[in-house]
Amino acid sequence: YFILFFIMSHLMSIIGKLKNYWNASSIPHELLSLDIAARLSTDSDAIEAASTDFGNIIKEKPAAVLYPSTIKDILDLIKLSYNTHIPFTITARGHGHSVRGQAMARNGVVVDMNSLKNNYRTGIRVSWDASLGFYADVGGEQLWIDVLNATLVHGLAPVSWTDYLYLTVGGTLSNAGISGQTFRYGPQISNVHEMDVITGKGEFVTCSKHTNPELFFAVLGGLGQFGIITRARIVLEKAPTRVKWVRILYSDFSKFTRDQEHLISIEGLDYVEGSLMMNQSPPNNWRSSFFSPSNQTKIASLLSKNDIIYCLEMVKYYDDQSANTIDEEMQKLLEGLKFIPGFMFTRDATFMDFLNRVRSGEVELQSKGLWDVPHPWFNLFVPKSTIMDFNVGVFVDIILRQNKATGPILVYPTSRKKWDERMSAVIPEEDIFYCVGLLYSSGFDDWEVLDSLNDKILMNCNKKGLKIKQYLPHYKTKEDWMKHFDEKWNTFQQRKIQFDPKMILSPGQRIFTFTS
Ligand code: FAD
Repeated sequence: YFILFFIMSHLMSIIGKLKNYWNASSIPHELLSLDIAARLSTDSDAIEAASTDFGNIIKEKPAAVLYPSTIKDILDLIKLSYNTHIPFTITARGHGHSVRGQAMARNGVVVDMNSLKNNYRTGIRVSWDASLGFYADVGGEQLWIDVLNATLVHGLAPVSWTDYLYLTVGGTLSNAGISGQTFRYGPQISNVHEMDVITGKGEFVTCSKHTNPELFFAVLGGLGQFGIITRARIVLEKAPTRVKWVRILYSDFSKFTRDQEHLISIEGLDYVEGSLMMNQSPPNNWRSSFFSPSNQTKIASLLSKNDIIYCLEMVKYYDDQSANTIDEEMQKLLEGLKFIPGFMFTRDATFMDFLNRVRSGEVELQSKGLWDVPHPWFNLFVPKSTIMDFNVGVFVDIILRQNKATGPILVYPTSRKKWDERMSAVIPEEDIFYCVGLLYSSGFDDWEVLDSLNDKILMNCNKKGLKIKQYLPHYKTKEDWMKHFDEKWNTFQQRKIQFDPKMILSPGQRIFTFTS
């Protein structure tokens, strides 16, 4: 038995090695002889984990996964690809919370950024200087929740957020990073002083508005096309301790949007968002369990008489010094708003509980096995001048009528002047535009129904000439990408040639490398 066991285990190990060799055959042998080979895995669990994402729709198997322990590991990997005759593709995987395979690399190498987390040179460091004030140097692999925890220790915090904090700094800076604070502080990409980036040529470059500005602006909103962000210097301000959090309800979309636009035009609020409530979706959902059971009953009765209710959500930060006046200040901000009388709901929360509001919903869905389902999400920027048409053509005529959408639907305005034109991120031309998020969840075999709803929405917008832009975009053809970038396309393409001429980085975005 012992001899048999010995032979069997040897055979298994030979088969395993052959399998690994076969998997890794699309990457050059030199790679396996470098130091980093020890941190490169072709193990089936590693490959499987790197070939899925939050969307649960696309599956692309890489040849290998790199678990870097230092930034030099990533540098060596990119250099090798750049210097070989047939380069292999490489993608940084932050927290894998994309929905369309954007952080995947078919037959290439996925860099699991998370494994850098314990590196002493990265991490999160808070500093101050006379020209910048307080700032944090943060590894690209860090989750925003960890940035929040680390900065709060100093009584400080970043100013611009996403609704959900379990996303990496590198991942959101590659898109924009938006939420209800964007109208006031700009997206996350507007709150970065400096970055360290490893370009597609394997060069380690520090960049800012003043030093290597072309790379700096390329990378912000650059969909991972120009380099891997290993450090970002993030703007910090004094953190509040508490928030006053108010939701008011409307049955009239024009009153709702007029009030939203008014609130982002005045001083006073720190966060303004909005969402839709329809009969099929309960007032509370995974994004936030805001309403008490009795308020939910009250809202359900309102919903039984209206097809759609619009919920405006606003927050004002405060601390011990302003605790006595916060209610009065909030009251003033609410003056003249045209919500349905009696449908104002207020909560008082810690700053942390407010910012981390989505986490409890996630944990609950995870416990029910409902978090890892397909998410054919669709995010759009809609110019203010067409938001009324969008309401009728999309919310009412498509989503409400088809009665298929399951999940939160967000709609809130933001201001263009907080975005820098030189960044790669694409937004509509108008000064005010709306962020619309269709955050569906589906079963494993019916996500395509929701996906066809997305196609229908796009077709409807095109037919009516609504000049929308996709946020977290995904397209099937180069022509669509060119249309998306519009006037920015030439610059985007030139920057690609400058910083990643061999088209090595982020193939999962399918802009320059079409994998299927
Ligand atoms: P990944 O999915 O791992 O990567 C995304 C892209 O960035 C890929 O192309 C990847 O190659 C690239 N990338 C990753 N790390 C780096 C790096 N260090 N350097 C260069 N490129 C890199 N977005 C918002 O703006 N606001 C929200 O409120 C919001 N809420 C969300 C809530 C949930 C539950 C989920 C799932 C997503 C949400 N998003 C939101 C979208 C999210 O910001 C993006 O999907 C983001 O890319 C996810 O970050 P990640 O770390 O998981 O990135």
